[in-house]
Amino acid sequence: MGKATGFMEYERQAVKERTPDKRVKDWTDYTIPLSTEEAERQGARCMDCGVPTCQTGMEMTGGTSGCPVYHLIPEWNDLVYRGQWKEALRREHLMNNFPEFTGTACPAPCEGACVLGINEQPVAIRSVERSIIERGFAEGWVVPEPPKTRTGKKVAVIGSGPAGLAAAAQLNKAGHSVVVFERSDRPGGLLTYGIPEMKLPYEMVERRIRILEQEGIEFRTNTEVGKDYPASALQADFAAVIMCTGAAVHRDVEVEGRQLGGVHYAMDFLHSSTKSLLDSNLEDGKFISAKGKDVIVIGGGDTGTDCLATAVRHDCRSLVQFDVYEQKDGVRDEVSNPWPQYPRIHRVEYGHKEAASVFGSDPRAYAVMTKKFVGDEAGNVKEVHTVGVKVRIDEHGNRIREEILGTERVWKADLVLLAIGFSGPEQELPQQLEIEVEANTRVKAEHGRFTTNREGFFAAGDMRRGQSLIVWAINEGRGAARECDRFLMGETVLP
Ligand SMILES: Cc1cc2nc3c(=O)[nH]c(=O)nc-3n(C[C@H](O)[C@H](O)[C@H](O)COP(=O)(O)OP(=O)(O)OC[C@H]3O[C@@H](n4cnc5c(N)ncnc54)[C@H](O)[C@@H]3O)c2cc1C
Repeated sequence: MGKATGFMEYERQAVKERTPDKRVKDWTDYTIPLSTEEAERQGARCMDCGVPTCQTGMEMTGGTSGCPVYHLIPEWNDLVYRGQWKEALRREHLMNNFPEFTGTACPAPCEGACVLGINEQPVAIRSVERSIIERGFAEGWVVPEPPKTRTGKKVAVIGSGPAGLAAAAQLNKAGHSVVVFERSDRPGGLLTYGIPEMKLPYEMVERRIRILEQEGIEFRTNTEVGKDYPASALQADFAAVIMCTGAAVHRDVEVEGRQLGGVHYAMDFLHSSTKSLLDSNLEDGKFISAKGKDVIVIGGGDTGTDCLATAVRHDCRSLVQFDVYEQKDGVRDEVSNPWPQYPRIHRVEYGHKEAASVFGSDPRAYAVMTKKFVGDEAGNVKEVHTVGVKVRIDEHGNRIREEILGTERVWKADLVLLAIGFSGPEQELPQQLEIEVEANTRVKAEHGRFTTNREGFFAAGDMRRGQSLIVWAINEGRGAARECDRFLMGETVLP
């Protein structure tokens, strides 16, 4: 294990952040990774528990507890503490093809399940994970490892988000020839066009794509299967297909004035901003700009937070985020949310800190429901009307949301961003391929097997699971690759 007494000697130290008032002036990574010495001390805090709940990913009461890719966390914490970084990197890559993505942007359910977290600050697992992979790249230890032999079988992966990339990496490792189709101009899925630059820089995605290409994977960007490449050709051109097209259908607010100009889906805002930033440093003007605007973000989740951080960098005039839920407590409720469940607590994320640094206070308004949008003569939004809400539990235990009389309010707004989640995957491709979907529109394929009703066609990631996390997408992509390899070869050694 790490240092036997490390958890008593050292305080938790996670990645540091650049100060909000400075970082809002640029789009570079807002964090500062741990130094070698700092990471070694953090590794020393790991207790190498008999039951490593941190690495035992599972779903609990609707949330994730522990690591879904079953990262060998106590092992690499110990190796880092002992200064054996190269071996730590090898152990990291055994379970996760892309520790740089999870080490940067995962909400770290491993830390929520860390035993030390029962009565102390948990081990800074995600920060150590990131330090290992960054050291690996810096030292030149992360190099292309193409397979020694090829099976002669061609596999198509549709979608290049974390699920598609993990599936492609694993299938390529098994010797299959992999083509990844991506309809966007850049690969990466939501790693590229969802999570903004300052949280997960595109450079990081590109660096990994270059390695995958050198390992033999072919990427066909600007190619939408079902449009630019006929879905009907897949069967003849490939021995198997893994579909990882995400869950991009937005949830909408169905209220008066929804059609007004200036009311946009969060993803249109985020995607256009990142594309323009990467193409032209925001000089081409081809993005939804928040500059000089009164911005309201509807939705209290991570997508909403990414909108805050982006709008602040555009130099908006004012910024508010509506959350329909009440503000949570700062510590987890031991009865309704006990360890090792993911802590459902009040968090102050990077976007909140940045908005507060510019406007003087946290941008969130809690327990607020949107009633209507009101526009000007030109058809553009100028106001958002809301009412306060509270939750009542009825006699059957159901949670009923009720409006509170007298809490009606009018907010000035000329840009409204809808960040209230996603209802499921787009249906065109499953329909064209006659792939069955569940009542909730997700593709029907059991977790662990990932097979659809059509032989040789597998599904993984948000398309199968619904909008989730990078780490689950990697779990699913790896799992689908394993089952696809078994289908092609009759057996598999993929984990
Ligand atoms: C704004 C935002 C921020 C997020 N932040 C985080 C975070 O910080 N941490 C975290 O863990 N998770 C985060 N998530 C969730 C996470 O990004 C997703 O769960 C994950 O990316 C899903 O991976 P995927 O591969 O299944 O799908 P996606 O990443 O959605 O990729 C699907 C890809 O398929 C492509 N595609 C679709 N149809 C076709 C077609 N017919 N032909 C070719 N290509 C096609 C799409 O263009 C897309 O590139 C965030 C999500 C959003 C929306």
